[in-house]
Amino acid sequence: MANDLTIQERLAIGRVHMPELAPEIRSRNFEEVNRGLGREEAVREARRCIQCKHRPCVDGCPVGVSIPEFLDALAAENLPEAARILQGDNALPAVCGRVCPQESQCEAKCVRGVKGEPVAIGYLERFVADWAMGNAAELPKSALPPASGKRVAVVGCGPAGLTAAGELARQGHAVTIFEALHDTGGVLRYGIPEFRLPKEIIDVEVARLLDVGVTIECNVIVGKTMTIHQLRDQFDALFIANGAGLPTMLNIPGENLKGVYSANEFLTRVNLMEAGRNPDSATPIIQGRQVAVIGGGNTAMDCVRTARRLGAERALIVYRRSEAEMPARVEEIKHTKEEGVEFAMLTAPLEIVGDWEGWVTALRCQKMELGPPDESGRRKPIAVAGSEYDIPVGVVVNAVGTRANPLLTATAPDLELNQWGNIAVDAGGATSIAGAFAGGDIVRGGATVILAMGDGKRAAAAINGYLGGEA
Ligand code: FAD
Ligand code: SF4
Repeated sequence: MANDLTIQERLAIGRVHMPELAPEIRSRNFEEVNRGLGREEAVREARRCIQCKHRPCVDGCPVGVSIPEFLDALAAENLPEAARILQGDNALPAVCGRVCPQESQCEAKCVRGVKGEPVAIGYLERFVADWAMGNAAELPKSALPPASGKRVAVVGCGPAGLTAAGELARQGHAVTIFEALHDTGGVLRYGIPEFRLPKEIIDVEVARLLDVGVTIECNVIVGKTMTIHQLRDQFDALFIANGAGLPTMLNIPGENLKGVYSANEFLTRVNLMEAGRNPDSATPIIQGRQVAVIGGGNTAMDCVRTARRLGAERALIVYRRSEAEMPARVEEIKHTKEEGVEFAMLTAPLEIVGDWEGWVTALRCQKMELGPPDESGRRKPIAVAGSEYDIPVGVVVNAVGTRANPLLTATAPDLELNQWGNIAVDAGGATSIAGAFAGGDIVRGGATVILAMGDGKRAAAAINGYLGGEA
């Protein structure tokens, strides 16, 4: 099929489906659920794009990927060109093609979605990025610019830090990322499980940054190993992207019982330290047969699906509003349900109940009903009197959210924070300390990969301007 199709021919093509592992198989292993499109399907899907002149899809992408251009190259089966365009705009396309909420970003703006289904931009991003990984020799090599003589430090090796580092290295600056953990990727590695984002994808994307000269120093906790000001004194500029990894507590009785985890601890033990899958892991995990996960976001879905894979016979989501208010991606909710997870909606936890030895035995809950919208715009849950009941469980995971960790910011009293402890910045990411910029979750609170990357890209431009280059 040639790429000179008429609009009518393009409109006649139906949206592609993502092949998936069967729920009964995947719910017992950590293999990736979405299997990716084949070349023929991807090219056909790219030909659904009608190449709108006003490019609304690009406005929906926080890093401004040139979507019609990369789709056009894919539709013409020019994969090296599609990959060149995509990688030029997005430092982590294989990651974004897997975890971005496209349905509320680029695809939400796609003109084809007005009278039917939008172009599957996310699936195609993943296809092109994966093709590029397997065919690196076919990609055009772009020469690195001459060294600027300037040195930039980046705190945190998550999507915001990685994106800023790549952009700054491509401007000729010498960039060093300082990362507290022993490995790269931030939430991409320790939070998002393998069945959604295999670790080798992160490894390959990070290796591309090393190729452009970025240096990564792991096991450095800024705020403990050194302060922000010590770092600032050694470098010409600084980008702070240490995320928002401090768990929000439930503040209910029983939170200290054995068998209660925060989502970050639960996922880090499994994803980073291999607990549950490696009998020799130095950081094991209690593998409950009945597990309740409290929350309704992507993190909650990741925890409950992980619990199923670790062998839970009964795994439930406990959420105080209804499914319509859940912040998790639609695809994640669908996958979670297919894997046999129960959804206890309009249910709020009151207490975690334990036995005399301090082990969790039940989650005491109360039924809720929805009242008028609250300040978040979502309908407010209101307790139904006399509706308390116990759910027998051995493990409870708190996935109600995270916030900024004060460990780093406390060492710099002149670093202005907002009321929630997030770093205050201007439109370019500049903080109250000259030459120090910030972005990602440490500025926004828990957000998304692509918003963190957009912050990294914007801040890199501002830092480049600060260092005397083009902003
Ligand atoms: P992070 O990814 O948190 O990276 C910050 C890095 O800084 C970490 O590596 C951390 O170890 C390091 N660090 C922290 N303190 C220090 C210090 N003092 N010194 C040095 N280094 C430090 N978003 C999506 O778009 N789609 C999803 O499907 C999705 N799923 C998610 C699932 C889970 C379980 C979680 C927790 C989040 C999910 N998110 C998702 C949100 C998304 O991952 C985050 O918004 C994004 O990772 C934020 O990027 P960041 O670079 O700001 O911070
Ligand atoms: Fe193509 Fe949709 Fe973007 Fe139009 S809005 S250019 S159809 S992807």
